Order: sequence, then structure tokens, then C-alpha cells
Amino acid sequence: MTTKYIPFSKPQLEKIIEQYPTPFHIYDEKGIREYARKFTKAFSWNSGFKEYYAIKSAPNPYLMKIMREEGFGIDCSSYAELVIAEKLGMSGDEIMFTSNDTPAYEYKKAIELGAIINLDDISHIEYLEKNVGLPSLVCFRYNPGSLKEGNTIIGHPEEAKYGFTREQLFEGYQMLKDKGVTRFGLHTMVASNELDAAYFVETAQILFDLIVEIKQKVGIQIEFANLGGGIGIPYRPTEQPVDLDFMSQGIKKLYQEKIEANGLAPLRVYFESGRAMTGPFGYLVSTVLHIKKTYKQYAGLDSSMANLMRPALYGSYHHITVMGKEYEPLDQVYDVTGSLCENNDKFAINRKLPKVESGDIVVIHDTGAHGHAMGFNYNGKLRSAELLIRENGEVVQIRRAETLNDYFATLDFGGLSDFKV
Ligand SMILES: *Cc1c(COP(=O)(O)O)cnc(C)c1O
Repeated sequence: MTTKYIPFSKPQLEKIIEQYPTPFHIYDEKGIREYARKFTKAFSWNSGFKEYYAIKSAPNPYLMKIMREEGFGIDCSSYAELVIAEKLGMSGDEIMFTSNDTPAYEYKKAIELGAIINLDDISHIEYLEKNVGLPSLVCFRYNPGSLKEGNTIIGHPEEAKYGFTREQLFEGYQMLKDKGVTRFGLHTMVASNELDAAYFVETAQILFDLIVEIKQKVGIQIEFANLGGGIGIPYRPTEQPVDLDFMSQGIKKLYQEKIEANGLAPLRVYFESGRAMTGPFGYLVSTVLHIKKTYKQYAGLDSSMANLMRPALYGSYHHITVMGKEYEPLDQVYDVTGSLCENNDKFAINRKLPKVESGDIVVIHDTGAHGHAMGFNYNGKLRSAELLIRENGEVVQIRRAETLNDYFATLDFGGLSDFKV
């Protein structure tokens, strides 16, 4: 069991709402820092260890600054994400550029920033060489195909669009070597929201074995193994977080057996985790607008899929707490909905909750990654603000809510307009 912790009391939340109306996402700095430190400590045996925070999960400079203070780099996959890194003053091996189907201008920006380039396909070697030029350090993304079982969100690796086949890896490293590239990395990402620590140990084994074979066959030494993201979080109270010590110790043992024993140390171990770093430390706070009783019972919120897409997109579970009713019996069943003209716009289906009333404040848990970031503007719904609770309890707004002027900014109404709700 995992207790669903909330970093504020109902009176504290009511005070926050006086200043920042619902809906909003709110992040807990203390929780983020504590997990970051735990993660880094688990891998302290590896001298070059680094986590590159997957910025797509919550692209906010305030959050990235916290990550950076904890020693993390940034994992980017688009021009906009590279610009975030640049604006934060990040460069060089602080940035991992793990993209796919990449346009030349994105590679160019990444190389200007000195980012580590992680190629998704063998054809990109020549594309990069021709359009931008090859940097001295290049990483390849490996897709193990049927060698590795997939999990539910990412699917089977052989069905996934990402990465090189095994044969292409050897061919690709040989090509790099022939073209004068001198430094090399290896990456894979075969999981998403995976809770089993053993899965990551197995992934490390696949990469470490390959690194030994690449040394034998191509005669190059890989500098780092990037195990990707995909570390799961316990969305359901019945689930357990990934056992970081089990994962780290399992990887350490393989490191000794395969990397050190073959004279291939030091090898830096990298992750580019997003979800685990901020997911559990973000909350979507909403107010109940309407209770509706037809063939089912509905609790309609003032937020929608525009603020949190995961339940509608993946059928994901997000725990819901009705503030002030934590200890009341869960004797009602609701579909918890948003207001989009889209029947999938539900945060929960057939959820057992206490009796909910209009005006209740509802907290949706684990929205700190792939939450606000995935939001869209369908039906003209605006994306909410993001708030941060500092370690001293102070609450700061780290992104304002969108306005109608933002929404209409790309349209031409044939004259000047100012839109207010
Ligand atoms: C999405 C993504 C991540 C982060 O995944 P999480 O599940 O949030 O840990 C890391 N690397 C790549 C290449 C990704 O696409």
C-alpha cells in the first residue's frame, strides 16, 4: 500500500484558492527534492551517474531549476525543449537530445548547445553529417525488438518506432568510427510506467552485454549507458514505488561482472526519467461544479481533459481525494467528469467516493508529470496555472493560466480585439 499524501491541509488550500482560483496544478518542492536525493544516493556507487530530467513531463523552468540544483541534466526532444535548456543557461553534457524523426534545425540547435546527440536511426548519421556535421560524441538508441518484452504503455519494442536494430548498431558504430567520431554512448528505453525494479536490471544487462560485444567487434569503448526513462509510480494506493536500492544493487552487480571484469570501466550510468521525478509531487486541484444524477451519478469539475489527459487517453487511474471528507465512508459511486463535448472527458469512471457536493474541493493525485504538459485547447478550454509550494511553505505561481487572448492569438478577426471572460 502507498498512502496518498497531500502536502497541504484543507484550510491551507482554501487560502491558496483565494489567491489562485481553481483549477490549477500545484507541485511540492520538498517531495521533488527528497526523491531526487534518494535516487542519486541509490546510484552513488557509479562515479559518473547522472539523471537527465525528461523535460517534456513538466516543462517549467522553476521545476527544471530544482532538478539542476539536485545535479540533474535535462533530456530534450524538440526545439522548444532545447530553448528551455538554453534559457536556463544549460549546455554541453548537461543536455541529452533524445529525439526521433528529427528535422535538421533541431540537430543544429542541439549541437550549438553542445548537447549529447542521441540518434534514433542509422540513416540519421549521414543526415546529421550532411546538414550539420558530426559532433565528437554520438549516442545511439537501441530497440531490442523481440529480445525484450514490452509493457502496456510503450507496447512491444518490435512494434515501437524508436531506435536501431541490433545489426544496425554494429554497422552504425563502425560508420561513426570511420568518419572520425571518437566518443560513444548507448541508450535504450523499453518501458513506460514500469513498477518492477527487475525490469530495469534486465535492461542494464542487455546494454552491458552489448557494450562488451561492441568493444570486441568494433573496437570502441562506450562511455555511458543511458537506461532511458519509464520508472513507474504508484498511481493506485495498492501499488508500491519502484525499489530503487534493489534496482541499483542489481545494476551494480552486473556492472562488476560485465563492465569491470572486461576492463570497460569507467562507464557512466544515465537515466532520463520524467514521471518518477515529479509525477507523485504534483496535484490537480479542482472545484466541483455540478452533481448530476441520470443513469449514473456524475461529479462535474471545473477542470477537464485539457488539464489532465491521461485518464481519457490511456484509461489511467488517478487517485482522487475530496478535501475535508478523507475519513468519510466511500459509499457513493461517481463518474468524475470535465466539461468537454467529448464523452471520454472523465477523470474517473465508477469511482467510490464519499458523498460529493457542489463546491467541494477535489484533489487529483500524481499529476506532476505528463499532466499539465499534455493539455490541449479542444473546445476552447484554457490550460490552467501551475503553482509551486516552496520548502518553507510559500506558494508561488510558476505559470499563469491561459487567457482568451492567448487562445485567440493565432486567429485573425479582421481587426483588433481584446477578449475577456
Ligand atoms: C518520455 C520519455 C522519457 C521519460 O519517460 P518517463 O516515463 O516520464 O520516465 C525519457 N526518454 C525518452 C526518450 C522519452 O520519450
